[in-house]
Amino acid sequence: MQKNIKAVTFDLDDTFWPVWPAIGRAEQEMAVWLEEHAPQILEKFGREGLQRLRDQMATRKPELAHHISLMRILALREAAEQAGYSPSVGEQAFQVMWEERNRVEFFDDVEPVLRWLRNQGLILGALSNGNADIDRVGLGEWFDFALNALSGGAPKPDSAMFTKAASLAGCLPSQIVHVGDDLVSDVQGAANAGMVTVWLNRSGEADAAAMPDFEINSLAELPGVIDGLRSRQP
Ligand SMILES: [Mg+2]
Repeated sequence: MQKNIKAVTFDLDDTFWPVWPAIGRAEQEMAVWLEEHAPQILEKFGREGLQRLRDQMATRKPELAHHISLMRILALREAAEQAGYSPSVGEQAFQVMWEERNRVEFFDDVEPVLRWLRNQGLILGALSNGNADIDRVGLGEWFDFALNALSGGAPKPDSAMFTKAASLAGCLPSQIVHVGDDLVSDVQGAANAGMVTVWLNRSGEADAAAMPDFEINSLAELPGVIDGLRSRQP
């Protein structure tokens, strides 16, 4: 199968940067801010209480549950109000968290591979279920488009985001290589949508359930995969 590859789409969290350190720092920064500016919120809810409030919001508004930022904002607004502050205090707390959440540390192989792909004239898209912002994290210049669970219509592995990516890239799903660390949301989702799938397995652990078209341990291996796809003659 020779493939006329036109575009490459990437997952973000744990594909371009480790997500949990960023979220941990973001939660911590928000707690510090709350302690200084709205201590009653933490006193009344604690960090676990805020998490519970967010879960309750998601249960109450299941149609918006995948809008992670909105769930956080609604929960913080309510927490602020219940603790005797203006709801806007909750929004300010969210901003503090949000800025830190987008202060991520890229894996070393990210920028070289993006440069290589751009030099190949490939269209690049970001497909994330999370609420990182491609411009804020500093990768916006490389990407033609970015979708999340909200703008993409539904969280991965649903086909909606992948289908929308193909329409934004102006090509067939089969002309797109999707790269991600998650076997379900990335590999299964992209495969169902008809894309070529690359599983980024950074830990190198074996997984019997893995059925990607390609498996790589580092993004440095991606150019080889793409070259291989393009040079296969029918
Ligand atoms: Mg991921």
